[in-house]
Amino acid sequence: MIGHPVAHSLSPAIHRAAFEATGLDWTCVAFDVAAGHGGDAVSAMRTLGLAGLSVTMPHKSAVIPALDDLSDVAQALGAVNCISWDGPRLVGDNTDGAGLLTSLRNDLAYDVADRRCAVIGAGGAARSVIAALGAAGASEVVVINRSSDRAAAAAALAGRSGRVGSLADLNAASLVINATPLGMAGTDGAAALPAPVEAVDADAVVVDLVYHPLVTPWIDALRQRGVTVRNGVGMLVGQASLAFERWTGVAAPYAAMLSAVEAQLD
Ligand code: NAP
Repeated sequence: MIGHPVAHSLSPAIHRAAFEATGLDWTCVAFDVAAGHGGDAVSAMRTLGLAGLSVTMPHKSAVIPALDDLSDVAQALGAVNCISWDGPRLVGDNTDGAGLLTSLRNDLAYDVADRRCAVIGAGGAARSVIAALGAAGASEVVVINRSSDRAAAAAALAGRSGRVGSLADLNAASLVINATPLGMAGTDGAAALPAPVEAVDADAVVVDLVYHPLVTPWIDALRQRGVTVRNGVGMLVGQASLAFERWTGVAAPYAAMLSAVEAQLD
């Protein structure tokens, strides 16, 4: 994987756990690549014969010119988090949003098709989730964001089901996702809630994409209200499991990958 910084990335541990669980003699290492050198890293992938590359900030857009092909979702998002080979061609994909949907299926047997969904936030994480919800057939994808221009651009990624909304839309949503950093440890907003807990329907499924801490103030408050809620670990493992399958052609050992993350975060 490449990124900057990468020292605290959980991805190498997740992939190593997956290789061990499937008996593959592979490994995953993190390379700290300075901004502006993402394309060089893709060239190195060709030279060194690396089987796959996981890409994180600040290279998600910068690697695109060095690739041969892009998936539709990576094209729409203008961001790549997973590079794999298709014969001699290097293909960029974005598995973040699909990874979240994978985790919802694996952890809660929850399918977003025909569901009303609300996403709080319109940044990189939100955009990948919004595009995935639209592609997976959500009946409605309401985007709620501080900056309305970014909300409109993000909502468009869901196609006809996307629209800009407000916190008043939350109580009609079956799935609610926080894709802002509110609640993240070590930030100004660490104690803040993305939305009042009363605004969320008690029968909704909620995902807070933050995973540091594992239990954010919002997760805690929602649990006390009896709402089904998950943190961002599922999306992290879900996107890694899709990358693993793309690279190896082997079914991802989701449970082993999840355990590896939980062990690291504990
Ligand atoms: P980003 O691109 O910087 O977007 C942040 C979003 O949050 C923007 O929509 C921003 O609104 C909004 N926001 C920021 N501070 C806010 C505040 N004080 N009040 C209201 N809204 C605020 O960040 P990102 O890459 O999308 O990441 C967002 C969070 O998702 C991260 O902090 C991380 O915890 C989580 N994440 C999780 C995973 C995972 O695998 N679980 C992956 C990526 C990210 P404006 O548009 O108005 O600025």
